[in-house]
Amino acid sequence: MAINMLDGLNSDGGTESESALETARRQLTEAAAHINVDDGIIERLKHPTRVVEVAVPLKRDDGTVEVFTGIRAQHDDVRGPYKGGLRYHPGVTAEECIGLSMWMTWKCAVMDLPFGGAKGGIVVNPKDLSTAEKERLTRRFAEEIRDTIGPKRDIPAPDMGTDAQTMAWFMDAYSMQEGETTPGVVTGKPPVIGGSHGREEAPGRSVAIIAREAIRHYDKDIEETTIAVQGFGSVGANAARLLDDWGATVVAVSDVNGAVYDTNGLDTHAIATHDEQPEAVMRHGAPNTLTNEELLELDVDVVIPAAVGNVLTEENANDVRADIIVEGANGPTTFAADAIFEERGIPVIPDILANAGGVTVSYFEWLQDINRRQWSLERVNNELETEMLSAWNDVRQEVEAGDTSWRDAAYIVALNRVGEAKTARGLWP
Ligand code: GLU
Repeated sequence: MAINMLDGLNSDGGTESESALETARRQLTEAAAHINVDDGIIERLKHPTRVVEVAVPLKRDDGTVEVFTGIRAQHDDVRGPYKGGLRYHPGVTAEECIGLSMWMTWKCAVMDLPFGGAKGGIVVNPKDLSTAEKERLTRRFAEEIRDTIGPKRDIPAPDMGTDAQTMAWFMDAYSMQEGETTPGVVTGKPPVIGGSHGREEAPGRSVAIIAREAIRHYDKDIEETTIAVQGFGSVGANAARLLDDWGATVVAVSDVNGAVYDTNGLDTHAIATHDEQPEAVMRHGAPNTLTNEELLELDVDVVIPAAVGNVLTEENANDVRADIIVEGANGPTTFAADAIFEERGIPVIPDILANAGGVTVSYFEWLQDINRRQWSLERVNNELETEMLSAWNDVRQEVEAGDTSWRDAAYIVALNRVGEAKTARGLWP
């Protein structure tokens, strides 16, 4: 199956629920039309370098054995080791991992990090696993893909359904087999074993920084800005709380069950995040509740989809009333919805810029692991701020110079960097 994935789009060909790979390839083709990168390089970038699929047997707590599928897609490493998260989710497919790995290549290039792109995961519902089962599954998965990864080769990180503890088990399993403690094999670990302070909050922090800059760019005052955030996990909750702290009025937040809504603004710190207490958002007292779909259509200044992919589609894009969309999740906007937003003049600040704080602090973590020297939280946050502003300015200049969408501008910045590296290195042999 993995081999087919290297060649073409998925066979169903449907546009109703566009796969991450279809979206990523369409975005690449569209952005490539704006720049002068060799066609051969663009063609190469439509394909991953490799996709590894492994069987991951797990002894369940009741003694039975179940076999899960593990995947690691490596898209491109011309600028440095492959980098990207591992998700534990029943919907994980090789195709989805390829699309997400392409976004990681662009994300690292937009941020000018010396990494390429990868993504992987296990087809499993983590809610069905006990903690001990999750640990055994993670350790066996680490062993099955041990030859594919490594601190100089491919560095996984947390993503949907995985967290710092998952990374700790993964790092331990890898280190035990290699015979040496190797903290740099994964990022997003607990700080006590080489993780970075501020890593967990980093994707949400970068979403907040980029939302703040977008608000400024469009001549709005953050104190008079209303915001709706879909998803109250690490990304959504940290973004909502920071924007709230900076003076914005966060009127709605949601989890998988729905949203709470208060036109006077919610106290975001009083609402439990998914990590603090799963699925607790609706239990927070608020004047109104909404569905997740209604949240996206609220008449607010900024809407931040920070839950799952494909939530802004051609079905609801015409009903969105926000002035600015800032993507917190990976791939929340389909290609068709993007075109509608562009026609309607609603700027979409893309995921590969907005949530790139996660991989940026992963890079800081990797540097700390190599040097065996931990940075203070203050240093991490200061350097993250600097990197985010630098990437924001690179993309903004492209928007202003080329009259392109924010997504195309971010792709142009990324593709130029990847293209230059490929041209300089040349094709071997
Ligand atoms: N999973 C995160 C992302 O999608 C972080 C990846 C990383 O830190 O390597 O950006």
